[in-house]
Amino acid sequence: MRTAISRLSLVEPRSLRHALRLMRDEAGLVPLAGCTDLYVALNDGALRATRFLNLWPIEELRVIEPRGPVLFIGALATYSSLIRSADVRRRLPMLVSAAREVGGRQVQNRGTLGGNIANGSPAGDTLPVLAAAEATVVLGSATGTRRVPFTAFYKGYRTTVMRADELILGIEVPEVEGRQWFCKVGTRGAQAISKVVMAAVRAPHPRVALGSVAPTVVRVPKTEAALTGGASVDEARTILMSEIAPIDDIRSTAAYRRHVAGVLLGRFWEQTAAGRPVY
Ligand SMILES: Cc1cc2nc3c(=O)[nH]c(=O)nc-3n(C[C@H](O)[C@H](O)[C@H](O)COP(=O)(O)OP(=O)(O)OC[C@H]3O[C@@H](n4cnc5c(N)ncnc54)[C@H](O)[C@@H]3O)c2cc1C
Repeated sequence: MRTAISRLSLVEPRSLRHALRLMRDEAGLVPLAGCTDLYVALNDGALRATRFLNLWPIEELRVIEPRGPVLFIGALATYSSLIRSADVRRRLPMLVSAAREVGGRQVQNRGTLGGNIANGSPAGDTLPVLAAAEATVVLGSATGTRRVPFTAFYKGYRTTVMRADELILGIEVPEVEGRQWFCKVGTRGAQAISKVVMAAVRAPHPRVALGSVAPTVVRVPKTEAALTGGASVDEARTILMSEIAPIDDIRSTAAYRRHVAGVLLGRFWEQTAAGRPVY
């Protein structure tokens, strides 16, 4: 389809197989899911691409289901479907918390998990959840499927290990043992991009992941090791300060982000202690 008002065109695949063949055969073809990020980029002129591959009708990419020991969440799962899913609520409640904080209802109905991952903004709200959950990204191409640990998916600011001919098919989430915790701090309670976002799991070896404090989402292994070893949260906070590398930008300052990251670490530790229900 070519729109009457622009030089942009939308390619409609007949199936996932067809979509993967198109990704192989046509250089420069840009996958389009909910279009909530792409539309913004198009609107402000930041995107030079003119041909887009419409993933939206590919039903098999919407599936959310347990598969053996993992929970599979298809790339086209929207925030609304994550919030509604009984499997996600039971196994990954911190992802439900993150989904509830994304944009408003319209964005939650269109925006997808795969789009959030591929877009790769360090402020993406689901990314710390996937890092703390030790999820795996499932990538597909015309030649097959491969799996990449989520923590190895980003190479740098908005760059990933995904090849140009690949699509994100979904993610696999192992059983997460321990209390899950999520908090986003933005300018206001809704419709705000995060200044700092944290997801964490209170297990014998606690896992802590943060967004908006480095060029990519980060786990903080030194902080985690300190908590595992019985350090106080104040000691862990001092270590956290040296592990993150926030910057000043239009949304916040590095100093404020450092401060907030420390506050969130303290809240995580306090709110997941002493048998308190988190959700
Ligand atoms: C008003 C507004 C508020 C927002 N608020 C938030 C927020 O609070 N938190 C937040 O994290 N984000 C927010 N966003 C950003 C956006 O909604 C999310 O990043 C969303 O998840 C993107 O998904 P999408 O399906 O719309 O992606 P699209 O816009 O369709 O695509 C985004 C990128 O991912 C690629 N892509 C999409 N699917 C795949 C796939 N399966 N395989 C490979 N590449 C793929 C596209 O080529 C493109 O580069 C907001 C956006 C808007 C417009």
